[in-house]
Amino acid sequence: MGNWFRLGDLELLVVSDGIIRQDAGATFGLVPKVMWERYTPDLDDKNRIPVGLNSLLIRSEGKTILVDTGVGAKPVRAPGAMTIEQSGRLLENLRTEGVSLDEIDIVINTHLHFDHCGGNTMMGDGVPVPAFPRARYFIGKSEWEAASHPNERTRGTYLLENFEPLQDASQVELVAGEVEVAKGVRVMPAPGHTEGHCVIELESCGRYGLCVGELSQVPVMLERLAWISAFDVLPLVSLSTKRRMMDWAVEKRALLISVHAPFPGLGRLVAEEGGRRKWLEARENGADL
Ligand SMILES: [Zn+2]
Repeated sequence: MGNWFRLGDLELLVVSDGIIRQDAGATFGLVPKVMWERYTPDLDDKNRIPVGLNSLLIRSEGKTILVDTGVGAKPVRAPGAMTIEQSGRLLENLRTEGVSLDEIDIVINTHLHFDHCGGNTMMGDGVPVPAFPRARYFIGKSEWEAASHPNERTRGTYLLENFEPLQDASQVELVAGEVEVAKGVRVMPAPGHTEGHCVIELESCGRYGLCVGELSQVPVMLERLAWISAFDVLPLVSLSTKRRMMDWAVEKRALLISVHAPFPGLGRLVAEEGGRRKWLEARENGADL
């Protein structure tokens, strides 16, 4: 069906919720424009770059898992550094792929910023309700706490309507440490972007994958460990998380699934001479992987 592809026994599909435009200076943090601009051919006249909203569907032993849910279709006011170009396409794209909302057993949010969990809920009778009625929603415990008690710097992106209704419906599973939610699908702490940020490690039949969440917005940020966005609340922790995970990804030849790279955001990191890493993109869902 559609663009499903396999990683060992796992079946995978990338589904888009749309595109946001994000301030490029904030995206690259301390890195000066003269160094990053060659990696952003789509820079617009307001210094913004397009950023994908890729959700990953996984099928493992009869369970259907959705990682991140984009901006969603509810009315939303984006934080200052971002503009929504197109959003709310996730549910329609799932239907196009023949996936119904009550088929989703598990939703994982890498973190609770508005562009990763907006599709968790949808409007029903004028109030936000869980979009996936049967799903358990797996969210990092410390992320939940940060989102529930935002501060002046974080409150623009933690929108209660994206996660509070899940708790009202008793559909939340708060996780701490590594948790295998289905065979070969493991939620892993990856602090830095936020303290409770998680990534999803995939393993099946000796093949590996990693949904990188917000370890990067632009793939070159996976090649260059010190290229860390100004959105990260713990940049030096991001540095050590990226070092550990990108070393692992190179060693395991892991398929990388990037939430924010252009759709579908699939690629691999390979080692080059001199210890450099290079991102190799796959332009189509599953192609040459
Ligand atoms: Zn994001």
